Amino acid sequence: MTGNIRNALIIGGGVAGPALAMALQKAGIDSVVYEAYPGTADGKGGGLSIAPNGMEALRVIDAAEPVRALGKPMTGIVLQDWKGRPLGEFGNPPGVAPMLFMFRHEVYRALLDEAARRGIRIEAGKRLVDAVETADGVTARFADGTEAAGDILVGADGIRSVVRTLIDPAAPEPAYTGLISFGALIPRPGVPSTGGKMNMPFGKKGFFGYQVFDDDTAVWFVNLPNPEPMTLAQVRQTPAEEWLRRLPPLYAEDHTPAADLISRTAPDELIVVGPMEKMPRVPKWSRGRLVLVGDSVHAPSSSSGQGASLAVESAVELARCLRDLPYDEAFSAYEKLRRPRVEKVIAATDRKNSAKAAGPVMRVVNAWAIKAFARMAKPEKMAWVFHNRIDWDAPA
Ligand SMILES: Cc1cc2nc3c(=O)[nH]c(=O)nc-3n(C[C@H](O)[C@H](O)[C@H](O)COP(=O)(O)OP(=O)(O)OC[C@H]3O[C@@H](n4cnc5c(N)ncnc54)[C@H](O)[C@@H]3O)c2cc1C
Repeated sequence: MTGNIRNALIIGGGVAGPALAMALQKAGIDSVVYEAYPGTADGKGGGLSIAPNGMEALRVIDAAEPVRALGKPMTGIVLQDWKGRPLGEFGNPPGVAPMLFMFRHEVYRALLDEAARRGIRIEAGKRLVDAVETADGVTARFADGTEAAGDILVGADGIRSVVRTLIDPAAPEPAYTGLISFGALIPRPGVPSTGGKMNMPFGKKGFFGYQVFDDDTAVWFVNLPNPEPMTLAQVRQTPAEEWLRRLPPLYAEDHTPAADLISRTAPDELIVVGPMEKMPRVPKWSRGRLVLVGDSVHAPSSSSGQGASLAVESAVELARCLRDLPYDEAFSAYEKLRRPRVEKVIAATDRKNSAKAAGPVMRVVNAWAIKAFARMAKPEKMAWVFHNRIDWDAPA
């Protein structure tokens, strides 16, 4: 059997969108990427990691190198208590390349540029508002009043997906994990290099992560328990200067560089990531000629370090299915291939987040929560996440 579509409308120019466009091109299917924003989605955005499984999926579509060039390797993670004492350390499972840390907007730019270099059309400033199926295709409607027609429409439009609601008006909304996040990349951290490792102290009042690089820069991030849900806009209503005043005292009792690193951060270096969200189980991945890929259907929350990597994996698998099967069968085959894996990653991340969001329990350093976290984080327990090979040449 072979695929029966010639072209696709891809909604969203984040990670999944351009990755899918390149994978479809490899499968002999044309596509256009429609991105809501004039440039990329978020001028600044947080840091994210691309895991070895994400790099492997990018390799399948010959797009690993432009992304690798952006990454700072993270060879291990050291879990610490509030005194900075190591509780457990885990490196990568044997034979697996390190995670790569990079900035979200840089990954977007690299993937969009690479797709454009391959002749894929990227239409910026096109916000999808509706999609209507016709007898032999689908028409996308954009906020600027324009339309576009294609054989199928793919929602690579992120965690607040419009396409998800078009597929199923009763689809779940993103769920708040009880944590709000901040981060920064700062020069001259005044702390020695952490030797390629990310330190993660469970402070008395909040979780902290930092890595000091050999070039005398450092990244840090905060996942702060905040039981009341807050939107990104609400978190951003408080100016960066004020957050930089409020955060260090929360880490003042900890014997870690957390308070110092935050204090050395300039307001324009602070990245307000906002509420940490995840997608609950999405019952319908497709309807008719519409299908979802990436965060729109399986956002595991940033604690997983897997959002972007799973998005690329799904994009490549969807293209492989569309290459080999009529689109309706391809959508079913794709969901069957991907749903068990992504839901397993999301479940594992939920357990991590509940350890981080332990709230008042954190104040006395909940040894149980941290040990549970450390147990989950052992390399051999993570191997199944990182070892994912896509056999592009195998029929779907
Ligand atoms: C604000 C924010 C901060 C994040 N921070 C982190 C982090 O710190 N660490 C981490 O690991 N992960 C983070 N993530 C998640 C990570 O970026 C995603 O897991 C990964 O990028 C998944 O890729 P995606 O393409 O599926 O979705 P996204 O990267 O979110 O891309 C979706 C794209 O679709 C576009 N779009 C949305 N709606 C429409 C529409 N109606 N019409 C047209 N285009 C549309 C968006 O502008 C965006 O470019 C963050 C996500 C967000 C939204």
